[in-house]
Amino acid sequence: MQPLTIALSKGRILEETLPLLVRAGIEPERSQLDSRRLIIDTSRPDVKLVIIRAADVPTYVKYGAADLGVAGKDVLMEYGGDGLYELLDLKIAVCRLMVAEPAGLAERDDPRDWTRLRIATKYPMTTRRHFADKGIQTDIIKLYGSMELAPLVGLCDRIVDLVGTGKTLKANGLVEVEHIADISAWLVANRASMKMKHAPLKDMAQRLGSAAQG
Ligand code: ATP
Ligand code: MG
Repeated sequence: MQPLTIALSKGRILEETLPLLVRAGIEPERSQLDSRRLIIDTSRPDVKLVIIRAADVPTYVKYGAADLGVAGKDVLMEYGGDGLYELLDLKIAVCRLMVAEPAGLAERDDPRDWTRLRIATKYPMTTRRHFADKGIQTDIIKLYGSMELAPLVGLCDRIVDLVGTGKTLKANGLVEVEHIADISAWLVANRASMKMKHAPLKDMAQRLGSAAQG
């Protein structure tokens, strides 16, 4: 078989993709996974995993450094675009992209009155696009994490962030005020690999697809 490289990110995506890989008959080398190795062998000599930052997955796949990747829809919306195929919704790492604000502000706030917003987020492109489509101007402050802190210390009034259970928001006195998108992780593929490695790619997508169903 032609070799296949699959890009994954540490944390949630890796944790939730591993059971799917195992069900698809691809057992990663446990000792390598637990080490600091970034290239992981699997029980299939033709399949390797590369472990990278979540936001880097689309880049590796676009440039063909990985044939396949697993990336959150949030990441695809922000950095995706040309050069990769969104093959399959794996329905893992499910959450939602939301606008949130302090509960006190929410009591007297009506999203229908919004004209200009100061928002902290890890997703500036997606945020700008979402509000521009509704004719709302945004001053966006780009952060790399812990968005929930920003309104508490006066950096902004509102944040755009991923919400899973809502526990982190609640713990910080924030409430969800607008839904932007439902998020889950997708299997993505390099365009050239789709042609050059059609058979093994299709086989892998089918295996992961059934594993995701089951
Ligand atoms: P890095 O650690 O490189 O900064 P990250 O913090 O985005 O990346 P994770 O927190 O593991 O890494 O998130 C990876 C992906 O998991 C996100 O892109 C998103 O698709 C999904 N995700 C993030 N937060 C949640 C959540 N609360 N519930 C479910 N899925 C989530
Ligand atoms: Mg993280």
